[in-house]
Amino acid sequence: MQHASPIQLLPPELQNQIAAGEVVERPASVVKELVENAIDAGATRIRVEIRDGGQSLIRVTDNGFGIPGKQLELALTRHATSKLSSIQDLMTMRSFGFRGEALPSIASVSRFKLASATTDGEGSCLEVVHGSIADKQPVAMQKGTDISVQELFANVPARLKFLKQTATEARKCSELILRMALANLQVDLELIQSDRTVFDFKAGQTLAERLSAFWPGSILERSLILPDNPHIRGLVGSPDVAQARPDRILFFVNKRPVQDKILLSAVREAYRGRILGKEYPQAVLFLDLPPDEIDVNVHPAKTEIRFQDESHVFRLVRSAVLSALDHAHAPAISVSHQQSTPSAATIHALPVAFAPSERIEPAAKESTASFAPIQYEKFAATKTVEALFDAPQSHATTAASPKQAQIAGTGTYLGQIAKTYLVLNTADGLVLVDQHAAHERVLFNTFRTTGRRGDRQPLLIPVEISVHPSQTTLLQDLWNELHGLGFSLELTSPTRVLLKATPTLLNAAQAKEYLEEVLAGQARSMTDLWAIMACKAAIKAGDELAADEALALLEAWQLLPDRHYCPHGRPVQIGWSNKELEKLFKRRT
Ligand code: ADP
Ligand code: MG
Repeated sequence: MQHASPIQLLPPELQNQIAAGEVVERPASVVKELVENAIDAGATRIRVEIRDGGQSLIRVTDNGFGIPGKQLELALTRHATSKLSSIQDLMTMRSFGFRGEALPSIASVSRFKLASATTDGEGSCLEVVHGSIADKQPVAMQKGTDISVQELFANVPARLKFLKQTATEARKCSELILRMALANLQVDLELIQSDRTVFDFKAGQTLAERLSAFWPGSILERSLILPDNPHIRGLVGSPDVAQARPDRILFFVNKRPVQDKILLSAVREAYRGRILGKEYPQAVLFLDLPPDEIDVNVHPAKTEIRFQDESHVFRLVRSAVLSALDHAHAPAISVSHQQSTPSAATIHALPVAFAPSERIEPAAKESTASFAPIQYEKFAATKTVEALFDAPQSHATTAASPKQAQIAGTGTYLGQIAKTYLVLNTADGLVLVDQHAAHERVLFNTFRTTGRRGDRQPLLIPVEISVHPSQTTLLQDLWNELHGLGFSLELTSPTRVLLKATPTLLNAAQAKEYLEEVLAGQARSMTDLWAIMACKAAIKAGDELAADEALALLEAWQLLPDRHYCPHGRPVQIGWSNKELEKLFKRRT
């Protein structure tokens, strides 16, 4: 039998090498720690140089307040920090560092050189090899700190093996610098990779200017700035440039880049109904929260965070993003048609289904979107739905003359193409509206506003629908909602349902289709039920519309704040500004 070895305290180099396992995973983590230290030191100019993806050299030079020569050794001692002196301090921390682990960890797995000066002129330089001090000398240098890390992980072959290709590590470094550059607009930040300048960010640039080093112009031009809020700022992408992967979603909490599921789901929730379920938007969001409401001390690399009040943070993010999205689309198109006036008769032919007392307020917000692709003239008057549908003469009371009301805005309805798209000539360009999607949106919003539609239409001959026993529970869960919507159902056996009445908007066949979709698990909430109903009841692509029917639809649709997307998130309209048309025809470049 083997004897247990005696217990002994590990030598400091070994302790640091073990700690390095957590703090320094790869070259980019070294870059992160060194740049954070520079920012903590109040630097306004930071230069980062890397070679071979950071494996042969990482050098970070700053003009911060420096480290006194006498404290260089201390800076390299584990749990030595100038940023924290009691556990209470953690609650008020605004600096990036506080664990006092980074420098000793890095120095234990590399050839490390730390030169620093607290005034211009004389500084000191300490050289460390794999954690042991090798040399200390005075050096002439400007105020600031200059740290170089060579041969990273040369003494930790296991770690070396896990590094990716040089190009991958280099990309991780540049992504990290970009993130830090976005959060620290006040700092000049330069990245040089193998003698090539990758970034040269200047202090005072805007967020969008810095992002343009990484994001395509087509995305940035359409991005929407969040409205002023002391706790959250940033920008989000326009829903029509949503993408398949979540790789342009960046979160920062108190300037610290973080990855967080709550923040991600809040953003996705805000875009719900504007993009498809499988798509992701772009977002760069900076949260500023009181330090005592978050815990950053979850992981040594500090990329994870805990929020004291998760639901508060969720709501903060969702509502900020929502208001950016809503503001962007506030300007409305007013539609008109040269000859025809919507008449009550033709409009009733369209199942627009407003309750007579219902009002829909037009979006009354001002547009803050500086990059909105087309700026429509704002629809000024608050119209009620009766004014639009039941009492055409009331136009006369809200506008100077009935004719003017028709042509009050900037849009003129030109006609229908492919029996599917309504063509509008607006002051700023050409717009196509998908008639099915627009009608879906109108119906959906009506359901949402009225909550439920009580009107039902009894069927002379009830329709029998067979259900799988497993679907019966689902049906029972949704029973009240379905009845509220106007269905009348009777469960005659565990596998048979009798459809005895349908909502007035659906005929028997549509109602059957609707129930089948619901039973197939398409609906999990009332919102889903409305969306399916709106889809079933809306006019279809391929339905020919008379001019006044089209006009009535457009008028109802254009009053909705979220009219740009159908309830499934597909776009309702696409457009080309006059400028874009000129470009397409190569009249201008
Ligand atoms: P932490 O940042 O958690 O305090 P570090 O190991 O990163 O721990 O750094 C140790 C200490 O060294 C810091 O607390 C700070 O006083 C000093 N230091 C490190 N880098 C710099 C720098 N670039 N400029 C000035 N001081 C620095
Ligand atoms: Mg640090």
